[in-house]
Amino acid sequence: MKNLRNATPFIFSFFAIIFISCSPKSAENEKWCDHPFRKGYEKYKEIGTKHPWFKVYPVTDNVYAIYEPYNWQQVISYLIIGSEKALLFDTGMGLDSIQLVVKELTSLPITVINSHTHYDHIGGNADFDSILGVDTAYTKKSSQGWSHEAIKQEVTVASLCPETLPTVDTANYHIRPYKLTDYIHDGSILDLGGRQLEVFIIPGHTPDCVALLDRANGLLWTGDTYYEGPLWLFFPGTDLDAYEKTITRLALLVPDLKYLLPAHNLPLISPTRLVEVREGLALVRAGKKEGKLLEGAKSPFAKDVLEFKFEGFSFLIRKDLLHL
Ligand SMILES: [Zn+2]
Repeated sequence: MKNLRNATPFIFSFFAIIFISCSPKSAENEKWCDHPFRKGYEKYKEIGTKHPWFKVYPVTDNVYAIYEPYNWQQVISYLIIGSEKALLFDTGMGLDSIQLVVKELTSLPITVINSHTHYDHIGGNADFDSILGVDTAYTKKSSQGWSHEAIKQEVTVASLCPETLPTVDTANYHIRPYKLTDYIHDGSILDLGGRQLEVFIIPGHTPDCVALLDRANGLLWTGDTYYEGPLWLFFPGTDLDAYEKTITRLALLVPDLKYLLPAHNLPLISPTRLVEVREGLALVRAGKKEGKLLEGAKSPFAKDVLEFKFEGFSFLIRKDLLHL
């Protein structure tokens, strides 16, 4: 669960309600709503759908990135298509119907898997009748939905470009409950017909993080375990030891990978980032890298968080998780 994935809006998000609700339209909001797309999207050719809230880009063979640039989470869900079935990896914010979008893209039966169950990745789950999940208490709790109170900061003028989605009911925005139809496990193989995906259960960011590996095509969907930007390692449910093990495990795959496909910001990333993350995290945990205190954040979740910056990404880690 993230916002624009740079440190300034990150702080901004937690203060949004406090500061922004006092001003009907902030200068900050106008600025990013005028230019919501990240640099890097110009190389992809957009496919138009009846739901312009979502920007759809074919990023590699039979893989669509479904991007939501008008909310500061800048979330990306992916539709992965085989010859017999399609898999939707995440369902986004739930602000508009991703189900109707994927129906425009494929007539194949669709199964949903979530990269993890933070609200920004499960918003459209309730519209699907085939959802595979991880067998954890965290996953089950998320399937009961997220209340308006917990996520109302996502629909303030500071976090949403409202003119792009006139139908949104900001006063009632919440994540609807949904039903898991079955469980996936580490090593599960999903056969879409002519395309196999291997499931990796990769706890750390949350207890129920999932990566998908398309070994034949060298593609690894990393969810929030890696994306370009500040990586959140402070939220309730974060386990730094588990995250380090996860990164170490994923980094071993790098020689066989062509691209990482993360769940925020940009869709095709160099796999070598995983090695840089592993090395960077080792430095941080050994006390050999200086972090800077994130200032001004008063949210209980963002208290005493240090940012450690590297090329292309940073770690936002709660001090008590570091044991330094
Ligand atoms: Zn997220």
